[in-house]
Amino acid sequence: MIQSSKQVQSLPAYLFSIFHKKKAALKAKGIDVIDMGIGAPDLPTPPFIIDRLTEEVRKPKNHKYSPYGGCQEFKEAVAEFYHRHYGVVLDPDSEVLTLIGSKEGIAHLISSVLDPGDGVLVPDPGYPVYQSAIHLAHGHTVRFPLDEANGYAPMFHQISSRDLERSKMILLNYPNNPTGGTVEINIFEEAVRFSKEHQLSLIHDAAYDLVTFGDYQAPSLLQVTGAKETSVEFGSLSKSFNMSGWRLGYVVGNKDLIQTLSIYKSNMDTSQFIPVQLAGATALRSDFSSVRANNRTYKQRLDMMMNALSGMNIHAEKPRGTFFIWAKVPEGCTSQGFSEKMIDEAGIIITPGTAFGQKGEGYFRISLSVPIERLHEASIRMKKVMKGGG
Ligand SMILES: *Cc1c(COP(=O)(O)O)cnc(C)c1O
Repeated sequence: MIQSSKQVQSLPAYLFSIFHKKKAALKAKGIDVIDMGIGAPDLPTPPFIIDRLTEEVRKPKNHKYSPYGGCQEFKEAVAEFYHRHYGVVLDPDSEVLTLIGSKEGIAHLISSVLDPGDGVLVPDPGYPVYQSAIHLAHGHTVRFPLDEANGYAPMFHQISSRDLERSKMILLNYPNNPTGGTVEINIFEEAVRFSKEHQLSLIHDAAYDLVTFGDYQAPSLLQVTGAKETSVEFGSLSKSFNMSGWRLGYVVGNKDLIQTLSIYKSNMDTSQFIPVQLAGATALRSDFSSVRANNRTYKQRLDMMMNALSGMNIHAEKPRGTFFIWAKVPEGCTSQGFSEKMIDEAGIIITPGTAFGQKGEGYFRISLSVPIERLHEASIRMKKVMKGGG
């Protein structure tokens, strides 16, 4: 009998899997399930990106291993993007590293920096991968709350000195999954100051950097003067260019953190397939009209859904970024109870807030990565179930 390691055996329960099982069971019964639990774009990758891939994939020189740290053209395209979009100057050789998706990079950075028992400050609610990665690295997750009353910004002064003493890193994520919370640069200025004062490495997960609405533009952590002394920022092509399956991301910023991650990774993988990186370079060098078109699609879905929710007396703040709505469950329901009721009685999947941490209790997350007609149908079913009482 083969046994998995204690670390793997004791991984935090993956709440999503309960819903996957329910979805499969309902589908088997012929029920039309609407899945608003999805965390990846439903829209296709823009054709100009696919064109570059198919062109490059035909060249035998691109069939070899990529350089460990990623290919030069992609790293330069990342640096150009930071300069053009944020006014941030990066050295493509030492301050940019290609990743096989940012999830991989975040998890491996945690492993490459932590010693057993080291703490990492992680937002609650937050992306579940952080906690799992810390667990696998034999680290210690220290949760700090994000509150609606404070616009889901970190409340640094509330983190206890005991928690600070045992922590080596702090993780932030804006535009935020799951809350849709966004920040202005002042929050990042405070974060950088805080990281220096307490000798923390500051890790910013910017997976939704370009998924924003209206006039709002998400700032980069690296726009803060001196941020590179303590900080790195993770970026991803998955959300902004509908490339989740391509597995392409990057990390930028502090040279030492990047070097550490690069050494770790060179023993685990050999970077991403060259044509995928070259297609990613074309994406980052584009005029972003495809990104704006995507955001318009999400915005239409968002407006429709916000109206529907308010008609049901469900409270939600309208997000300025991400493709998620973070809404309050009706009075008297738990997150889990409400989500189960929705799948059992309405055939719709929403994610219970508690999938993202204890502070998610009382909320649920709707993904707008579903065609508008289907979202509309989901809202009608929801309304029916809510009217039915219970
Ligand atoms: C989707 C997502 C990621 C992972 O992105 P990949 O680059 O596809 O690995 C990272 N962080 C958050 C918060 C996400 O929602």
